[in-house]
Amino acid sequence: MMQLIQPPRSTLHALAPQGLDTPDVESLTSYVCRLAHSHGITSQRLVDWVLGFFEHSVCDKYGWHQRNLSSMSAESEQWAAWLSELTGVESLDSLTLSPYRRLLGTPGLAPRSDRWCPCCFSEDKQRGEEPYLRLAWDIAPVEACLKHKVKLTSICPHCQRSNVRNRAAIVVPGYCTACGGFLGEGSAEPATPESLWTARQVGNMLAHRPQVAAEGVVPLLETIIERMADGKITCFASSYGFSKSGVWHWLRKGGLPGIKAWLTIALHGGIGLDKLFAGEVQNWAMPHQPLQLNIALSESPRAGIQSRELDWEEIRASLRLMLELPTPLSINEAGKRVGIGRKHLYLRANAEARAIADRHRRYRAASKQQHVDELRAKIEMLLDERLEAGYEGISARDIWARLDTEAQSVNGIFHHINLVISSRYG
Ligand SMILES: [Zn+2]
Ligand SMILES: [Zn+2]
Repeated sequence: MMQLIQPPRSTLHALAPQGLDTPDVESLTSYVCRLAHSHGITSQRLVDWVLGFFEHSVCDKYGWHQRNLSSMSAESEQWAAWLSELTGVESLDSLTLSPYRRLLGTPGLAPRSDRWCPCCFSEDKQRGEEPYLRLAWDIAPVEACLKHKVKLTSICPHCQRSNVRNRAAIVVPGYCTACGGFLGEGSAEPATPESLWTARQVGNMLAHRPQVAAEGVVPLLETIIERMADGKITCFASSYGFSKSGVWHWLRKGGLPGIKAWLTIALHGGIGLDKLFAGEVQNWAMPHQPLQLNIALSESPRAGIQSRELDWEEIRASLRLMLELPTPLSINEAGKRVGIGRKHLYLRANAEARAIADRHRRYRAASKQQHVDELRAKIEMLLDERLEAGYEGISARDIWARLDTEAQSVNGIFHHINLVISSRYG
């Protein structure tokens, strides 16, 4: 039976991310700005505070915006997990490109300057909502807004400066960090059909979590080469403009196609990036292929990509069962039992993870108190013995010498002894 979990209150506001599971999904950079704003502090202070909370050193010379919070890096994923842990809002890694790390190569992914769609900002504002930054704007090949059919821009219409979107200690998304002007004004150029196609592809990609696991990438690429070039690597490379060594690198050396290569595959293969990354290639037929090729393909041993993502419903159920165990588990131990790291537990099973961590925290606090109580009882007993034996005054040092070695090494042991003595005499 489904159990209701009541997770503890979150440490930071449980701010809802914008556009989750849509092509307009917010970026984590934007989320941090809005979260800081909702706490009435600067983004820089919020980031420093989070680092301090997780006992990481804060570097004064390092601006928060230099951290690339929305990227594909492990650092972005770590930030998403920390913020999920603190806000109680799960899946914040969907606001970064980190879920695509096992599929996408880095080259060509990051844009050279910060871009935005002025019409999106202006529409956010008209709807009475806080303007926010879209994750798609941080993907270099995306040069247009599909919704408004305009080119993305990177220059403030008021002060004509660039990189004024979020590179400052204080950021209000949608407003220029140099002059404070609203970035949703000014004119926007119409987008080309090619740039709209790319925007649609990437938008669909962002709206669906990738399902192909790391070990499923090579089988996926093999399927692609089979469908698109009858399994011939040389032919595949020359037909679609890849280098042969590059394709070999993907297949044998753990290399990954960059976003542009994936877009080329999607374009010529007539299949969406979302479908490719979901491993949904069983029923994929190349456009305008001779019939005989399709017949040959139906016998392919590689039909279907087996290495899919984890079953989170099942994992959540196991975690809920762990909440019933007589001895509470730590979040790390729970993670070990289901074979998933703490980071991903907070990202994908947030309520369960926080309930487990909270239960363990309370258990730890209670057992610590129990130890203290036992220690005090020991001290009381020694004190009684000494008094019965006719001693008048008694020093803390005296008592300490009579404790067993375990008790002697307790942190702040003299404090405990003095408290017991002073409660008697003081
Ligand atoms: Zn737009
Ligand atoms: Zn400006």
